[in-house]
Amino acid sequence: MDYTKELNTSKRVLMGPGPSDVHPRVLKAMSTPLIGHLDPEFLEIMDDIKVMTQKTFQTENQLTFVVSAPGSAGMETCLVNLLEPGDEAVICIHGVFGNRMADIAERCGAKVVKVEVPWGEHIEPQQLKDALENCNPKLVAIVHAETSTGVLQPLEEISKIAKDAGALLVVDAVTSYCGTELKVDEWGIDAIYSGTQKCLSAPPGLSPVSFSKKAVEVLENRKTKVQSWFLDLTMVKNYWSGAKRAYHHTGPVSAMFALREALRLVLEEGLGNRFKRHHENHLLLKNGLEELGFSFLVKEGFRLPMLNSVLLPEGIDEAAIRGTLLNKYNIEVGGGLGALAGKIWRIGLMGESSDVNHVNMLLSALKAEIK
Ligand SMILES: *Cc1c(COP(=O)(O)O)cnc(C)c1O
Repeated sequence: MDYTKELNTSKRVLMGPGPSDVHPRVLKAMSTPLIGHLDPEFLEIMDDIKVMTQKTFQTENQLTFVVSAPGSAGMETCLVNLLEPGDEAVICIHGVFGNRMADIAERCGAKVVKVEVPWGEHIEPQQLKDALENCNPKLVAIVHAETSTGVLQPLEEISKIAKDAGALLVVDAVTSYCGTELKVDEWGIDAIYSGTQKCLSAPPGLSPVSFSKKAVEVLENRKTKVQSWFLDLTMVKNYWSGAKRAYHHTGPVSAMFALREALRLVLEEGLGNRFKRHHENHLLLKNGLEELGFSFLVKEGFRLPMLNSVLLPEGIDEAAIRGTLLNKYNIEVGGGLGALAGKIWRIGLMGESSDVNHVNMLLSALKAEIK
């Protein structure tokens, strides 16, 4: 790149693990002239975002807001606010992001108990039950849609087991949010975080978060200060809620304009229609890929519609074809992460990228390149 020249990136088709393609209305909203982040008009925009975040999370939680940083900061927000040194935390691990939660919980000074399964599998409720017999954790944390493996983790039974043990349930919904069914209140989720760049199809950099009443009580009864100044919700919540909207940090104004429009698009389509679209495009891709000799890493019934993790046909150099897709066709697909690096592809059909034309474009490029 030559910095004296105007920025001119290639016109990519985003079919990896995020970011996903963004609707022109969202890009247009993002180029709205700036206003101050404490301007009364901006406070109204924050209120709009809060209401639409509640609707899309299917929750009435009052403490529903957006962290001014990406999904990992939402993860950290949930854990640093609920855990104090010496607390026990059960972390379910079925991929990269479960491991990240365990790492953060340890950094909070928590005693971490790990419930693990091989990558590509989901956590069985009985495994959690067994683990809870030997400990008394403050929270159980689990990833709903494990983007590193393509596994959809059922949550309802897990939630009951966590409740019975008197623990809070913390859920990573970064990839599942706005792409598959997610009922925060009905499923008894106490703290949840997501990201904007996956099935919501907004630019990366923000993290929608919601805390139940019970989680707020735990926060209010802490004995120690939250370890992080920036993510301390006892302060952030005054910036997001009703009466005393005080300066905490400078809100990312342009990103919030974009988020507001992306949320409007989700609600215009309707959650049910959106989930159906994600499911149907997943099936279309699945049929095409199987004809070409690809197979799925995850067993049927536990596959994510928005993140297809697939093994390649025998004898194909995965990195070379991925490079061809990007350089010749402008299509981005993801490679494997961690233990699955070099072994799988992760094909994203998230938000605006969950589209018939995207699927057909990728399949015909693959047909031409895989002989
Ligand atoms: C992408 C992702 C994250 C991290 O989000 P960032 O925006 O990259 O920080 C966390 N959990 C899951 C399941 C993800 O897919």
